Amino acid sequence: MNRIGPIIIVEGPKNSKVPFSRSLFIDCQEKVLIDSGADPNALREIEREYGVELIVNTHYHPDHTTYNHRFPNAAKWINPIEFRTSRTIKGVAQVYGIYQEWGPDGAEQWEKSIPAEWVKNLEEISDFYEYEKIYNFGGIKVQFLHTPGHTKGLSCPYFPDLGVVYAGDYDMTSFGPWYNGTDGDIEEFIRSGNQLLTVDADTFITGHQKGIFTKQEFKQAMGNYLSIIDKRDELIEKHVRQGMNFDELTSVGIFYPKHALAKPYFKMWERIGVRKHLERLGLTVPETGVKIFTK
Ligand SMILES: [Zn+2]
Repeated sequence: MNRIGPIIIVEGPKNSKVPFSRSLFIDCQEKVLIDSGADPNALREIEREYGVELIVNTHYHPDHTTYNHRFPNAAKWINPIEFRTSRTIKGVAQVYGIYQEWGPDGAEQWEKSIPAEWVKNLEEISDFYEYEKIYNFGGIKVQFLHTPGHTKGLSCPYFPDLGVVYAGDYDMTSFGPWYNGTDGDIEEFIRSGNQLLTVDADTFITGHQKGIFTKQEFKQAMGNYLSIIDKRDELIEKHVRQGMNFDELTSVGIFYPKHALAKPYFKMWERIGVRKHLERLGLTVPETGVKIFTK
């Protein structure tokens, strides 16, 4: 396990790719774990060697709260915006987009299909932290920066004395920015991404894949990463001009690979994502059938 001063970086399986993520363990008196989506064996090792007393979740997504339930005695905190919604599975269905895309019946079915651990991970969240406040965990200062866009409440933990930021879902992957829940927002995503570049830090740790970036690397990666949003805009605009309706537009694979859209989750987030871009572009398309633009 990599270590930066008192911060132990706990990798997730498969290069911390979704549905896993990278966790940070702060080796201090309070025994703090940031997000719980890392390799379960590595987390068990941390628990055995140090003990975990507090889990801090950056946001409610299951790849960042995965193993909350493996630490029954630890207190669990989440950000203040998501504290209430994330503690019930109905609340999560709302912000995920389940109600919007599948309706109440779909939501009911979905609720029955989700694993019991997931419900537990959320129910066990006992409190929330405040944004921007400087917490002192046994001499290690941590500030939870509010970085909305990916979700409404997402926080990026910042260690001002160490010059380290946990950038979480600013993961710099080739997939690009994800703001496809109903609580995601493109403009906020861009704003928060640029805001991260102004933080006085030399090291940025992402939640997935590559992992550790210097400030310079992170800055460069952010430019490429955010430009994927413009590419999506261009692609959608082109297809709309060519006469595609909403059904066609959400079947070509703007976000997810075309073949992945057979899976209901991906289709749902593809639809929500396309809606957000259409709104941003000021374009409307018919849901099906009639085409308003023709070649
Ligand atoms: Zn996430």
